[in-house]
Amino acid sequence: MTARILVVDDIPANVRLLEVRLLAEYFEVLSAFNGPDALEACAAGQVDVVLLDVMMPGMDGFEVCRRLKADPATAHIPVVMVTALDHVADRVRGLDVGADDFLTKPVNDLQLVTRVKSLVRLKVLTDELRLRALTTQNIGIEEPLAQGDLPEGTMPRVLLIDERSSSVAHICALLDGAADVQVAADPQSGLFHAAEGGFECVIVSNGFADFDPLRLCSQLRSLDRTRSLPIILLVGKEEDNRIIRGLELGINDYLVRPLDRQELIARLRTQVRRKRYNDELRQSVSQSIEMAVTDGLTGLHNRRYLDGHLPRLFDRAMARKRPLSLMITDLDRFKSVNDTYGHDGGDEVLREFARRLRKSVRGIDLACRFGGEEFIIVMPDTDAALAEMVAERVRAEVARAPFAIGGGAKSVAVTVSVGVSSVWPQEDSVAALLKRADLALYDAKTRGRNRVVARAA
Ligand code: GH3
Ligand code: MG
Ligand code: MG
Repeated sequence: MTARILVVDDIPANVRLLEVRLLAEYFEVLSAFNGPDALEACAAGQVDVVLLDVMMPGMDGFEVCRRLKADPATAHIPVVMVTALDHVADRVRGLDVGADDFLTKPVNDLQLVTRVKSLVRLKVLTDELRLRALTTQNIGIEEPLAQGDLPEGTMPRVLLIDERSSSVAHICALLDGAADVQVAADPQSGLFHAAEGGFECVIVSNGFADFDPLRLCSQLRSLDRTRSLPIILLVGKEEDNRIIRGLELGINDYLVRPLDRQELIARLRTQVRRKRYNDELRQSVSQSIEMAVTDGLTGLHNRRYLDGHLPRLFDRAMARKRPLSLMITDLDRFKSVNDTYGHDGGDEVLREFARRLRKSVRGIDLACRFGGEEFIIVMPDTDAALAEMVAERVRAEVARAPFAIGGGAKSVAVTVSVGVSSVWPQEDSVAALLKRADLALYDAKTRGRNRVVARAA
């Protein structure tokens, strides 16, 4: 996976040092020697990860990071602060201004490459979701990440998986007041709890007597329900190999014992902030997908959905040699409803028709508003005789009682004509099936309306 990394440092030798290491891993590298240039490069939209020196004359790294995270257009770009001082206070300050990670100088090769790779992976996912969300112009979703901090009163909900009670007590004390922590004392119940949902981050301890915590990480990554749940792995000193394997398995972050309270909290908040952001993106994407295939007036599927789905239902019926039928309904003299009761009155009738239609067909039948006052219902596993019965049920349900208009102030008698067609066992096509139903509908209209006509062959 190739990605473009921006290295920002006021000392050219430092830039070159990181550049060489990153190039060796086949990353593309851009460089900037001051804050404003870095901001410009990011705004141009060409950067996947930023490695940002803290101490620079003029605008320092904290300020650059703060500005990147405050701008909705760049807030999603992962930032790694590179600090000369191995000071926890600096790391925490970096994470507080929204940095996603930090490295200390002299930069450890392993850490550099693993951190960057893991952030690139995350960025690829976020980019994909952003792209889809932006396509549908839900720009508002950029806000939560740009806010930089979690909203008041929404403590991260954390699952701690650890069997050593002393370690559990210690971590709970560290997170007291900063997170809502639940504990699972063994890996099996931990996996179970995680899958039950409701958590925003899992902390996996390294302190199991005879269980490899990486196995648990891998299980968490392979279950659908926990796939997008951030994992923070706790490791001891000198556990570089476990860190590498962990990052390869998809853990999101790690902390080396002894744990520092502020760093633990800052890293946790970073993970939770990102998860909430991605969840929101995901939700907005699925919402817009749903909107794109749903008819706004009736809540039934729309024509676009039918166009995509009918061929699939048709192919499946053919392949399995199962029957498939389809009906087209068209309200009779609907223009006069509009003329008499206005367009809003007509809309009420369409909504009520959709309700009665839904009532008369099975859940697995696909009911769509084809356009105007025409609807198409696709009925899998339904032969011609049965389809005609269903169509007759729809017709009768419409004619049974008048439709209320103006919230019940008036009512109007409505009837519907229906054309039915069914697949032929041999040569057939979706187009032919639709054509036959349409001709049948035309017959129903010319023969006096309020009736069902079927065309099996
Ligand atoms: P018939 O089908 O029995 O031959 O007569 P009709 O009057 O229903 O036929 P036609 O297809 O000519 O008229 C359909 C009318 O449906 C015309 C259009 O104004 C109305 N219509 C289409 N879409 C909507 C809609 O979304 N809301 C409302 N209120 N009316 C709509
Ligand atoms: Mg019509
Ligand atoms: Mg009509």
